[in-house]
Amino acid sequence: MSMKNEYDITIAGLSKSYKGRNEDIVVLNELNFQVKRGEFFCIVGPSGCGKSTLLKILVNKIKDYQGTYHINEERRSSGIAYIPQESLLIPWRTLYQNMALGLEIKKSITPSTKGLISDLISSFKLNGLQDKLPNQVSGGEAQRASVIRALASSPRILLCDEPFSSIDFVTRLDLNTKFKNKAKVQGVTTIFVTHNIEEAIFLGDRVAVMSKKPGEIVDIIDSSLSEGAEDAVKCRQAPEFNKLFSKIWEILENGFH
Ligand code: ADP
Ligand code: MG
Repeated sequence: MSMKNEYDITIAGLSKSYKGRNEDIVVLNELNFQVKRGEFFCIVGPSGCGKSTLLKILVNKIKDYQGTYHINEERRSSGIAYIPQESLLIPWRTLYQNMALGLEIKKSITPSTKGLISDLISSFKLNGLQDKLPNQVSGGEAQRASVIRALASSPRILLCDEPFSSIDFVTRLDLNTKFKNKAKVQGVTTIFVTHNIEEAIFLGDRVAVMSKKPGEIVDIIDSSLSEGAEDAVKCRQAPEFNKLFSKIWEILENGFH
């Protein structure tokens, strides 16, 4: 895996509060971390700890926050893709038209990008559903279409908000494997949010563990695996898998370590 010692994303003292009835409610408290070029950076944390809020800040959907973040300008301008938690497919476009949307906007529908979409459709098992409308497919299928939309534009920066949460366990293992390998081949710098510990260990080069409200990063753990790094099922046989699982579990349970 080639990972330059260059940072694509730097987050410094990032905090966010929402207006409550009487006082402000702190959702993110002083986040500090950096993501290297080509790195797969996972964030795990309990529901409500501010994971989605963090990604919305990074894609400029939320503009009032404290602290700073910086995304490498060159990488940002050559393409940033965001997979929101609620898959935002356009209801009157077919799955295929949704998947091609990013390319259409960039005016880069070519034989080669069409080939990439076809390849993604078969990897992510959406064959035969290209002409369906979003409301004619399951939640998991819609999620997969939004993953394909993001990867089809070959982004340099990819921000994913629990993209596989509505997908059954067996399919999810398969998609985890394919997703990680595609991300590595594309050399994309990824932040991937999930509440699933196993998914984070497999996908992540590192895993940041967040505490419940107010969301803080309690620890950032190196989760590179000596075995099965390219296969979500086999990675469970790596000797460090269980240790990583227990360590992350403990932090999540106690909110500290
Ligand atoms: P997560 O993605 O980790 O589940 P979110 O970032 O969605 O968490 O939300 C973090 C907290 O902020 C939750 O308690 C949620 O209810 C609250 N929250 C999210 N969006 C808003 C909003 N627009 N206004 C007020 N509170 C919000
Ligand atoms: Mg969320």
